[in-house]
Amino acid sequence: MSDAPLHGSSFDYDVIVIGAGYGGFDAAKHAADHGLRTAIIESRDMGGTCVNRGCVPSKALLAASGRVRELADADHLAGFGIHAAPVRFERQKIADHANQLVATIRTNLTKTLERAGVTIIRGTGRLEGSQRVGVREINGVDRVLTAREVILATGSEPFVPRGIETDGRTVFTSDEAVSLEWLPRWLAIIGSGYIGLEFADVYTALGCEVTMIEALDRVMPTFDPDIAKIAARNLIDGRDIDARAGVLAQSVHPGAPVRIELVDMQTREPVETLEVDAVLVATGRVPSSAELNLASVAVETERGFIPVDDRMRVLVGGEPVPHLWAVGDVTGKMMLAHTAAAQGTVAVDNILGHSRSIDYRSIPAATFTHPEISSVGLSEADAKALAAQEGFELGTVRSYFKANSKALAELDSDGLMKLLFNKTSGEVLGAHIYGLHAADLIQEIANAVARRQSVVQLATEVHTHPTLSEVVEVAYKQAVAAMHPAAVGA
Ligand SMILES: Cc1cc2nc3c(=O)[nH]c(=O)nc-3n(C[C@H](O)[C@H](O)[C@H](O)COP(=O)(O)OP(=O)(O)OC[C@H]3O[C@@H](n4cnc5c(N)ncnc54)[C@H](O)[C@@H]3O)c2cc1C
Repeated sequence: MSDAPLHGSSFDYDVIVIGAGYGGFDAAKHAADHGLRTAIIESRDMGGTCVNRGCVPSKALLAASGRVRELADADHLAGFGIHAAPVRFERQKIADHANQLVATIRTNLTKTLERAGVTIIRGTGRLEGSQRVGVREINGVDRVLTAREVILATGSEPFVPRGIETDGRTVFTSDEAVSLEWLPRWLAIIGSGYIGLEFADVYTALGCEVTMIEALDRVMPTFDPDIAKIAARNLIDGRDIDARAGVLAQSVHPGAPVRIELVDMQTREPVETLEVDAVLVATGRVPSSAELNLASVAVETERGFIPVDDRMRVLVGGEPVPHLWAVGDVTGKMMLAHTAAAQGTVAVDNILGHSRSIDYRSIPAATFTHPEISSVGLSEADAKALAAQEGFELGTVRSYFKANSKALAELDSDGLMKLLFNKTSGEVLGAHIYGLHAADLIQEIANAVARRQSVVQLATEVHTHPTLSEVVEVAYKQAVAAMHPAAVGA
């Protein structure tokens, strides 16, 4: 908490937030709900990436295309004795569903801020020194406002590597893909992270042929290797997807066809030239910080990301800058909507004088493919490093969906949960899941990680039968069985 009183000051506002994505939204609402005079500045669309170009429209497309996939899977349906007519779908109506959902959520979010008493300013914000925010409004007016506390929440935008030219129609990023303007017969997706995988799920369900290009030496490089193996078998190999790892899309030229020059990632020798109907560039995201005039407060970014501590204070040379906070994707920490929102609340709690830190280890992540992938806590490599550093033995157990009655009833039992835990204390360190409803299943383990709970206690908790949650129960029980008897108290 800063020293001067929050109320009755000569500042225009107690808090100014720059950027109205989920990070900015949660920060502004939390601040206003606690009586702080709050303004939020947004240059583009209220709700930011998640609502307009990210989570919301992509999940609407996945919901519709997932149904198409299910109804078109004659073998799966025949297993239940069901024979459906050939599936028909209307691309435009699927796109409309996504667009309408975006509009509804954006309106609701804007109204929520207005009702909370937040002043919404439409324009581009920047810093003009400590506790001063410049804003160029949409009508061209430029003014400087003062605030006791300033929160930067400007988010991120798609990263397009050098050599790749986008035209928004034949070569595009997720910003355009969420509009589902057309369905290319043959689509190349560059990148096999969660965004590439989710769009591969959508496009293959709707009948497109996909080539997935990954520069690193295996597809899905950011996922747990065992989970990636089983997920790739189903989500890539089992579908109309040709995956190439270890190759770099050195140049991509829009047009009809789109030309992609592939080179070997190691040697940079030409591998092949592909001619496809369209390319989706899903190669990660970069922070939106260039317009913030961070030099006016002597803040230096790290590849554009704003350095922060776990209380969300902006750092210069490792020391907090008074009255300046940053949250969300622009900080580069677990770039997810719920992380941004949690960071926003933590920043405001600290402004309010309640010392609070964010706990990244307990924040779950999910990929909404069919089936889903999820994780929480440490990767196996990080858990091994922690075990070596702290001198404990790492436990790893696997629980299979094949042994779960609900998954078997659904005829969808290809799935795996891997649980990482401390063999002496029983503390849950992380979990990685591939399988039906993995995104929902992970929450239970995230809660256990947040409380640093032991599998000894968790294994006694009763789970509903028959539900997929029993996959988690089995993992906890296996973990207890694998612990040192003395540690369990046997
Ligand atoms: C295709 C896709 C799918 C995704 N799916 C999920 C998912 O399922 N679950 C999940 O948790 N996350 C998902 N994400 C990630 C999620 O969208 C981001 O982590 C989240 O939006 C970050 O929120 P933020 O508030 O930090 O930034 P943003 O949402 O990027 O918002 C920042 C806002 O600041 C505004 N802004 C920037 N500069 C200025 C300025 N100078 N002045 C005023 N305003 C400015 C921008 O216009 C923007 O509206 C997805 C992302 C994509 C691209």
